[in-house]
Amino acid sequence: MPNDAVLKAHGIKPSLTRMMIFEYLKTAQKHPNVDEIYQALQSRIPTLSKTTVYNTLHLFTEKSIARAVMLKDQENRYDLAAHPHAHFQCLHCNEVFDVAMMPDFDLNQLMPNHEIQDVSVLISGVCETCKAKEAAQKSS
Ligand SMILES: [Zn+2]
Ligand SMILES: [Zn+2]
Repeated sequence: MPNDAVLKAHGIKPSLTRMMIFEYLKTAQKHPNVDEIYQALQSRIPTLSKTTVYNTLHLFTEKSIARAVMLKDQENRYDLAAHPHAHFQCLHCNEVFDVAMMPDFDLNQLMPNHEIQDVSVLISGVCETCKAKEAAQKSS
C-alpha cells in the first residue's frame, strides 16, 4: 500500500511532512528518536521543527500506526506498529534490536477475560558486538 493510502486508512491527512516521517520510520531500521528524525529530514523539509516531529509521532502512536519504544533511559524511540515484537537494548552501546516474538503464541491465553491492545517487552544486556570487543580487550 502506498504511504498516503496507509495514512488515510488510519484517519491521518497525508501532508508532505507526515508522509516523509512515515517513510523514514519505514526505512530506518534503528528505532530513531525525535532528534534523529529531525536531523535526517530538516534539509529536505526546511520548515520542519522538532515540535512538528514530536506532534507527528504523537499522532502516529495515537492512530496506532507507530509505537513508542520505551527504553531504560526513559528516552522514547519510534517504530512502526505493523508487527508487534520485543526489543533488546544493549546497555553498553545503547543500540536497540528487534526480537521476533513467536508468531503463533496467543497472548490472550494469558489473560482470557481481558482485551490486550498492546504488548511491549524490553530485554536488556550486552550485544554481540560489545561482547566481542570486551573479549578482545581482555585477551590483549
Ligand atoms: Zn552493544
Ligand atoms: Zn522495533
